[in-house]
Amino acid sequence: MNLTPVRDIEGIFMSSDLMGEPALVCPVCKYDYSHIREVHTELSGADAQLNEGSSPYPGTVAAGVTHSRRQCLVITFDGECEHAWELRIQQHKGVNYISTRVLEQRSADDDPVA
Ligand SMILES: [Zn+2]
Repeated sequence: MNLTPVRDIEGIFMSSDLMGEPALVCPVCKYDYSHIREVHTELSGADAQLNEGSSPYPGTVAAGVTHSRRQCLVITFDGECEHAWELRIQQHKGVNYISTRVLEQRSADDDPVA
């Protein structure tokens, strides 16, 4: 999994001229129009190995397993620029680390301008 830690807030946010507020941008090309495809929790792989189980963050469904000790909140975006990516919030020892992962393909049924 190719994760890119967000080391600079400019890597994923830019100031929007439309609303004057920070907006998420594509981590590849910085285009600022995108659509949220879905949100899910990747369950803790460590918990699964210990048979302790883990549950998704309330309001999300479980999909996949993270290699970290705690769950990871994943928000998947389809950009109108034709890129797709995940914004990942991974808790580790009480700190929530932010990273992005560029996906190979956009959602097959997604209309980028809908
Ligand atoms: Zn892009």
